[in-house]
Amino acid sequence: MMMRNDGQPAASMINRRKFLRYLYAGVLGVGLPLPLFAGESTYRYKQALRESETSIRDYIYKMRHFDDPHPSDVSLTPDQFDLLKSSLERMLRVQRLVGYGNFHLISFDDAIRMARGYARVGDFSKAKIDFLEQLFYSDASHYGFLGEKPVNRLTENIQRKEVIKIPGSGNYLYKGHSRGVYDTIRKSIGRDVILTSGVRSVMKQFLLFLRKAYRSRGNLSLASRSLAPPGYSYHAIGDFDVGQAGLGALNFTSRFAETDVFHRLQDLGYIRLRYARNNLLGVRFEPWHIRVRSEFRV
Ligand SMILES: [Zn+2]
Repeated sequence: MMMRNDGQPAASMINRRKFLRYLYAGVLGVGLPLPLFAGESTYRYKQALRESETSIRDYIYKMRHFDDPHPSDVSLTPDQFDLLKSSLERMLRVQRLVGYGNFHLISFDDAIRMARGYARVGDFSKAKIDFLEQLFYSDASHYGFLGEKPVNRLTENIQRKEVIKIPGSGNYLYKGHSRGVYDTIRKSIGRDVILTSGVRSVMKQFLLFLRKAYRSRGNLSLASRSLAPPGYSYHAIGDFDVGQAGLGALNFTSRFAETDVFHRLQDLGYIRLRYARNNLLGVRFEPWHIRVRSEFRV
């Protein structure tokens, strides 16, 4: 369904396991074991080494310049881009209809139903729904996102009774563990720390991902270096983002890692980042993203 920007078919991309092995060997500086497999020839070993060095260099470059297009990036076709644009417009109109806060919890089916019921939103045609389904169920590693997929159903529903609205933030957190972690952070750091993004449904993640992909003219690889594709975000199951009060949009940049709030989070020690510097998941460094759910199993 997608094309690499250099014209190579996406399917020819290096497979995920091989790529990850290269990265573990290279980024973590442990070197490739010699030989890779029993019986592997020296020639193949040298070839693998060259491939791995190129892959690692390429990977590190892309992560440092996450917001720039790259020749090996995978993009939508022009027809798909039109579907993206018209789908995104409808999602934004649904968000206006239900309100910013409520949209965090809205399911795929809710949004489709609302679009059908309100002329000012506009129906999602079959072509749009097919496009969104295809995007949701396609394997994001084909365009470079290597994280796990905690939500496997497009129609996954968030139960309102399981979440709580955090006053003044427009965001929700799951009751229980997520809220507990947030409360502990607030107790330790005080009013300087704010919740910048909490629970996000599949539909909310769709809106964020499609908006980024729209701004990058359909480049899914570029979009996925900043935002997990729908289904792949841990915001759906408990992770959240924090920021420093008053910092605004800079809370979602590397600038946040220079703030007092970040340093205090680090000192507290119980904070674990989901996307650390030099992570191997195809995602930029995200110091603001707090990892809550770690017990997730595929
Ligand atoms: Zn996040």
